[in-house]
Amino acid sequence: MGVIFRMRVKFNDLSKATGQVKRKFLKEAGKLIGYGNFILTPEVKDFENDWAKVVGAKYAIGVSSGTDALYLAFAALGVGAGDEVITQGNAYNASVTAILRVGAIPRFADISPDTLALDADKIEPLINKRTKVILPVHLYGQACDMKAVSKIARKYRLKIVEDCAQAHLASFKGKQAGVWGDIGAFSFYPTKNLGAFGDAGAVTTNDKKIYEKILALRDLGQVGKNDHRHLGFNMRMDPIQAVLLKLKLPYLKANTKERQEAALHYNKLLSETDISVVPVSKSKYAGHVYHLYVVRALRHNRDWLRGELKKLGVETAVHYPLPVYSQPFFKSLKLNFRDACPIADLSARQIFSLPFFLGITKPQQKYVVESLKKVLS
Ligand SMILES: *Cc1c(COP(=O)(O)O)cnc(C)c1O
Repeated sequence: MGVIFRMRVKFNDLSKATGQVKRKFLKEAGKLIGYGNFILTPEVKDFENDWAKVVGAKYAIGVSSGTDALYLAFAALGVGAGDEVITQGNAYNASVTAILRVGAIPRFADISPDTLALDADKIEPLINKRTKVILPVHLYGQACDMKAVSKIARKYRLKIVEDCAQAHLASFKGKQAGVWGDIGAFSFYPTKNLGAFGDAGAVTTNDKKIYEKILALRDLGQVGKNDHRHLGFNMRMDPIQAVLLKLKLPYLKANTKERQEAALHYNKLLSETDISVVPVSKSKYAGHVYHLYVVRALRHNRDWLRGELKKLGVETAVHYPLPVYSQPFFKSLKLNFRDACPIADLSARQIFSLPFFLGITKPQQKYVVESLKKVLS
């Protein structure tokens, strides 16, 4: 084992991603301020057109956040009280609350033990006459088995909403996340693979009716000025974010490749050790875009391990430490059933995310893995 030099490796560092566009952004933002219009300007439409192309969807709608993108998806599909939506045991909070916000009930299918993606075999037992939608959450940048999910959706005539918040450019069997389902919901939260300077999100769809409805819903239900046909909301994307995201788009492909290469490097470093901390498996068919690099502590207490790493200067995070159904707010809903997700429960105790961001260096990655070895020896 090599000599360990004291280093500090932050969990995330946005400086490279920001640096790529900072000067151009300040110039373009200056122009926008000069125009003096700040709501649903042509810049938003412009980004929407670009984003639809990138995802391979007919339509994209820029919205206020990924959370609102999910909500708008369910609202546009007319999902409401008495309906059920099937998501996965390790879904993010925002995925589940979007279901609850329209008055529907979330049901939880367990995840597959190796990839931690939605286990399609666990969906059918949850289907009943109230089931309306399946919501796969493409966590960490890895798409769920959309072939299997689509097959089930067709069989039972269910809609699919994909949570693509961590899955920009991710794919399954070569087809991109966001076009497998009826609706794709994206987040441009600053740390996401495509991140804004604040909150922003987008919805993608190939369905004109859904497109037009979400266009209206995000803007107070208007189909024309003061013509409010729907009960709508203010969930518009800010033009200043659209300007930034458009500038960032040309870098997305190369940046994604760089993340994939950094992930392979972690894989290699970890495979050269025999420690009991292992990466979450990648499915053979997933085009993984590595929003996060997630590992599992198989034999040691995860929180202790993270504490020891911290002492060595290595910052980690957990996505996520407690399944949503075990969170206090969810328990307070007092839903009278409990879908068992033993794999999601177990993985929530084991997983943590290593420092990972655009621009992470090989010496930083080496230091992270050497620190893991040191802690575990
Ligand atoms: C970030 C995220 C969201 C929410 O997106 P926001 O833009 O933060 O509202 C939803 N689902 C998943 C899986 C996420 O990672």
